[in-house]
Amino acid sequence: MSIRYSIVVPVYNEELVVEESYRRLKTVMDQTGESYELIFVNDGSRDKTEELVSGLCDEDSNVRLLSFSRNFGHQTAITAGMDAASGQAIVVIDADLQDPPEVILEMIDKWKEGYDVVYGQRISREGETAFKKVTAKAFYRIMKGLTSVDIPVDTGDFRLIDRKVCDVLSSLTEKNRYVRGLVSWVGFRQTAVLFHRKERFAGETKYPLKKMLKFALDGITTFSYKPLKISTYVGFLVSLLSFLYLLVVLCLRIFTDQTVAGWASALSVSLIFNGVILMMLGIIGEYIGRIYDETKNRPLYVIREKKGFTEEK
Ligand code: UDP
Ligand code: MG
Repeated sequence: MSIRYSIVVPVYNEELVVEESYRRLKTVMDQTGESYELIFVNDGSRDKTEELVSGLCDEDSNVRLLSFSRNFGHQTAITAGMDAASGQAIVVIDADLQDPPEVILEMIDKWKEGYDVVYGQRISREGETAFKKVTAKAFYRIMKGLTSVDIPVDTGDFRLIDRKVCDVLSSLTEKNRYVRGLVSWVGFRQTAVLFHRKERFAGETKYPLKKMLKFALDGITTFSYKPLKISTYVGFLVSLLSFLYLLVVLCLRIFTDQTVAGWASALSVSLIFNGVILMMLGIIGEYIGRIYDETKNRPLYVIREKKGFTEEK
């Protein structure tokens, strides 16, 4: 019998939450009365996460474990889970219970109505720092302004996708993935369910500032050329202003005996412009680095161990 639902749960050092997460997901999925699998993707955890999930596999034949050889990142973990999923509908959900598992039932209802993608849109966020709330809100709006793909705001990776959407996503080989953008890019019939994002059940966020920045840059660079265009416009504008200023300096020198202010002002102007140039080179570098990642053709992830997968998948 083919499996109806696959739930993909990325876990990275989540020993404090993984069992509770399993219990909540099991309770919800048992209510559907249909077959399902819970795929925990262990993204190179260094704590007891793997042992705990392995134990769950032994107890419950619906649980599967996919272990990476090291930490490849959240977006890659989700991708691996989707690649391994065999269900007709696939749900991606965080392990920390910030995305309430009960919302999955609403997603399933929408899917049965005929939608191919049902994404969870956050009405509010609880228990997160003011910094995270402000930067997240700003980020989703900046993304909207930068890209031509209609990526919904305040929407994470908590969503249900139909098998055909999952197959298209698995066929996209791009590295540095921004999965929520890719899902929008794929198209099909999409709709939202609204929910309140809860506090983390236990433990700390696994997204420190560095990972958040990388994630934001991946989103922007893989879905927009606008930063490059903006660099070009700024370049032209700066050149024009510099040229006008040069004319003023020349005229002052030729037609008046006013001396132009000394080296301090010259130095500061030059430093500002050098700063602008370095920034633009950095922007170009972000794109080139990602092009380089694509050309290397390395696999997206390396699996060290699989457990609980019955069918050939
Ligand atoms: N995660 C992961 N790999 C990472 C970082 C996070 O698999 O490198 C998982 C993590 O275990 C969790 C989900 O991704 O299930 C979201 O992470 P987290 O809750 O720490 O992010 P936040 O909600 O704070 O943005
Ligand atoms: Mg979280």
